[in-house]
Parts: sequence; C-alpha cells; structure tokens
Amino acid sequence: MKSVLITGGSRGIGRATALIAASRGWNVAINYVRDEASAKDTRAAIERAGGKAICIKGDIAREADVTAMFATAAKEFGSLDGVVINAGVVAPAMTLAEMSGERLERMFRINVLGSYLCAREAVRHLSRAGSGRGGSIVNVSSLAARTGSPGEYVDYAGAKAAMDTMTVGLAKEAGPLGIRVNAVRPAFIDTEIHATSGNPDRARILGKQTPLGREGTADEVGEAILWLLSDASSYVTGALIDMAGGR
Ligand code: NAP
Repeated sequence: MKSVLITGGSRGIGRATALIAASRGWNVAINYVRDEASAKDTRAAIERAGGKAICIKGDIAREADVTAMFATAAKEFGSLDGVVINAGVVAPAMTLAEMSGERLERMFRINVLGSYLCAREAVRHLSRAGSGRGGSIVNVSSLAARTGSPGEYVDYAGAKAAMDTMTVGLAKEAGPLGIRVNAVRPAFIDTEIHATSGNPDRARILGKQTPLGREGTADEVGEAILWLLSDASSYVTGALIDMAGGR
C-alpha cells in the first residue's frame, strides 16, 4: 500500500486531496498547524470510508517540526511514496508599499522556507539513493506566480513563484533519484483561505470572470494532484499545471 504526506491536509484543497487519495488506496498523513478539530474530522471521514490516516501537528516553517513530521509518517506507514506540499497562507489584500516587514517575513517563512524544508525532507525520504522507493512530490503553487497579484498580495505571488522555480530545479535534481516533482497552480478555488485575505467571496466573484465562468472546487484540484501522485503521470516531471478556469 502506498503512503502520502499532505501538508495542510486538514482543510480546503489538502482535505479534498486526502479524501481522494484515501479512496484510491493511499495511507494518508494529515499535517496541520492549529485546527486540530478539522484534522481529526478529515481523519474520521477517511476511516469511515475504510481508509487509514494519521494526524500530525507541525508548523512547516519550523525545521524541527518538519523533520519530525516526516519521521512520524515514515515510521507509521513503513515508508513514503508521495508528498503534497500544500500548506500555505495569504494575508489581507494591500499594495506592497503598505506591507509591514513582519508580514513579509511571515509570508516568506511559511510559503517559501516551509515549502523548501518540506521538499528537502521529501527528497531525503523518497530517494532511491537512500532507503526510499522513489515517488512523487506535488507542490501546490498558485496562478498568482504568473500574474503577480498586483494590489492584493505581490508577497504571496512571489512566494509561489519561488515554489515554481523549486519545482523546475528539483525535478532535474531528483529525477535520477526516482522522484518526480510537479506543481499545480490553482486560482479561484472555493475554500476558507479567501476569508484571510479579507474577501470570503473572492473565488465566486473572480471565478465568474474566467472563460469557464465559475469558481473551482477543492475536489477538482485534488483530482489533478492525485494524477500527479499516481503512476498514470509516470513520464511527467517539472510540470506546472494551471488550474484557473482558463485565466
Ligand atoms: P485553507 O483552506 O486555508 O487551508 C490551509 C491549510 O494549510 C490548513 O490545513 C492549515 O492548517 C494549513 N497550514 C497553514 N499554515 C501552516 C503551517 N505553517 N504549517 C502547517 N500547516 C499550515 O487553504 P486552501 O485554499 O486549501 O489552500 C491550500 C494551498 O493552495 C495553499 O498553499 C494556497 O496558497 C494554495 N492556493 C489556493 C487557492 C484557492 O483559491 N483556494 C488558489 C491558489 C493557491 P490549520 O487548519 O491547522 O490552520
């Protein structure tokens, strides 16, 4: 049986991915940082459907938490075959000129440093040069990396661009180790993250302006992530897949 660790697997896109993965036979390690009730709820939903899941509390921006969370998942499941680097944050919409140093530091600490630490640990665990069996890493970036998100959050957009560049470079580094590295770049997905930016209806409003005329769902992103995790995408690495209704 294959096993996957999903950072931020308790809510939104991470939760949807966890439920789909479990329904396709993956053991799932659900990482979260604060909302224990949602993490437990996701685990319970997986268990009710006959799957296996564990919850692991840990802040991806803290190196000790990241190494511990990977060690726990590997110990619990025997080994890891997939890692979804999904946890991320946004902050209230404003221009760069208005942003505080504290905000910028937090944004890059969680979304860049946190993602890089998780990717490093993923390679260490999956690498065939070590004790791993190879596998797949999926980064959850954002369309913002391409648009720059002017007037809303150029900090977040730049952090996601760093994930894209890491995806491209790490795919080349890790291919010979039996590891594929890809990214999805969603936008306008109906989750709770938009409330943090100050506009809970953002996905619904901006989704209407896309060629497909609607917001996306966490399940739709989860399906793409599962494809990238699975052997069905076995010749795909270093790819950035936009999921933004055609924008
Ligand atoms: P969400 O509903 O707000 O869920 C965020 C998840 O990340 C939660 O499980 C949260 O855990 C976890 N998390 C946050 N900070 C963390 C940290 N420091 N350490 C560990 N876990 C942490 O967000 P979402 O919309 O599903 O977004 C998931 C990813 O997709 C993010 O990277 C986001 O940037 C990206 N994305 C989303 C959209 C969209 O339209 N929704 C568009 C583009 C990209 P707790 O529950 O414990 O807080």
